[in-house]
Amino acid sequence: MYEKLALYIDGEFIDGEGRKTEDITNPATLEVLGQLPHATQADLDRALDAASRAFQTWRHSSPTERSDILRKVAQLSREQAEQIGRNMTLDQGKPLAESIGEIKSCADHADWHAEECRRIYGRIIPPRKPEVRQMVLREPIGVCAAFTPWNFPYNQAIRKICAAIGAGCTIILKGPEDAPSTIVALARLFHEAGLPKGVLNIVWGVPHEVSDYLIRSPIVRKISFTGSVPVGKQLASLAGAHMKPATMELGGHSPVLVFDDADIGRAAKQLARFKIRNAGQVCVSPTRFYIHDNVYDEFLEAFVNTLSTVKVGDGLDAETEMGPLAHERRVPTMTRFVEDAVGLGGKVVLGGEPLDRTGHFFSPTVVTDLPENAMLMTEEPFGPIAPMTRFSDTDDVIRRANSLPFGLSSYVFTTSLQTATQASNQLEAGMVNINHFGSALPETPFGGVKDSGMGSEGGSETFDGYLVTKFVTHV
Ligand code: NAD
Repeated sequence: MYEKLALYIDGEFIDGEGRKTEDITNPATLEVLGQLPHATQADLDRALDAASRAFQTWRHSSPTERSDILRKVAQLSREQAEQIGRNMTLDQGKPLAESIGEIKSCADHADWHAEECRRIYGRIIPPRKPEVRQMVLREPIGVCAAFTPWNFPYNQAIRKICAAIGAGCTIILKGPEDAPSTIVALARLFHEAGLPKGVLNIVWGVPHEVSDYLIRSPIVRKISFTGSVPVGKQLASLAGAHMKPATMELGGHSPVLVFDDADIGRAAKQLARFKIRNAGQVCVSPTRFYIHDNVYDEFLEAFVNTLSTVKVGDGLDAETEMGPLAHERRVPTMTRFVEDAVGLGGKVVLGGEPLDRTGHFFSPTVVTDLPENAMLMTEEPFGPIAPMTRFSDTDDVIRRANSLPFGLSSYVFTTSLQTATQASNQLEAGMVNINHFGSALPETPFGGVKDSGMGSEGGSETFDGYLVTKFVTHV
């Protein structure tokens, strides 16, 4: 059964009841799955009031109480992964194995936050006079407003919710209207786990209307957003105008540097598989390929061979390795990237077109011989397209990798320790992966630099954005 879509405010699930609703469709079949109710202004006010009231109690909850609830959510996520994952495939499109894998890995995120929230410590600073005590306390910042995207709907939401409530904050989350089922499921699991009412609230609506209203509210003390750079900049500016800290996990344009001493066959296969994960709709997807001249032909052949065998189809089909794009507007965007590249001399060596079938499908695509100023090399494609370019000099390729305003993830394939060290020192990115894909584990920090964002989620840094520092001294 597809999840019954609802708002979740002050511990209550609220359905349409005269509210504006929007149809949720399956991107593989275009079938309507359900109706998502939009929050009215009164609903938003009620969520603000509930989060504000709940904060007065939740801020004093013991870390063990918070930890027990997060652990229960981890357990329920594992138990219900098949059902929640199936619904994610229905409204988001990714293959079922990826959906179920996302829910299970999110259980690990909840467990990590359950452990770490017991270790939010202050410190004592030695005084200048023996009768003085100086203490640094770390307190929850207050009511948080979070806005999460559709590409990893469960993952992006659970990380923000666990960090906020683990720190003792309360939260109002506007999930992705394009893929809402897993967020409602998450609210259900927190409800079942015994989270007090008002600590978590879920709302839906027109994104800019909801974010504008919540960010301006004096009740909200912190903003967290995952999504595109332009929207992130708008929300961060508004948060700044109201002196509210913001964690921003924004887009990237991840460079891949393949050196001629790497295991080329292995790198090509791994990168091709990683490229089509979630149909390339991943903020850390490898998106700009720089291949050493000496191994370019060998890499390209192995990469194209692997990508050409990928089975594209409905994510519920067990054979499917790549699903549709999550919504209609992504398909013409992919076509624009390819047309721009071709207009500038690029050659499409694989794919390049939407698939001729129902649903928002685009074929796995490889483009070569395109200049550095092609859209594909300067803007994040956020889809299954890989642009290939060459390099011959290490300093020059690092300069090219750093030439964009983004700095989220980066990938290096080399067996030289010297090259690996130089690349990890000099790449301007929040994450550098050398010879494998190792980002986004609960215990490791995830975040970008430059236009790709501010702050980290995960790792021991995970609560930093949700705490404020208070200094107390007494004699
Ligand atoms: P978009 O910029 O329209 O939306 C991105 C996300 O932000 C969506 O979930 C949307 O609902 C939300 N959003 C948009 N305007 C908002 C506002 N004013 N207030 C609050 N939320 C708002 O782009 P799109 O077509 O949905 O997605 C494509 C682009 O988004 C990609 O190019 C990619 O860079 C970016 N994106 C990044 C991530 C990520 O994990 N960093 C995830 C999804 C999308």
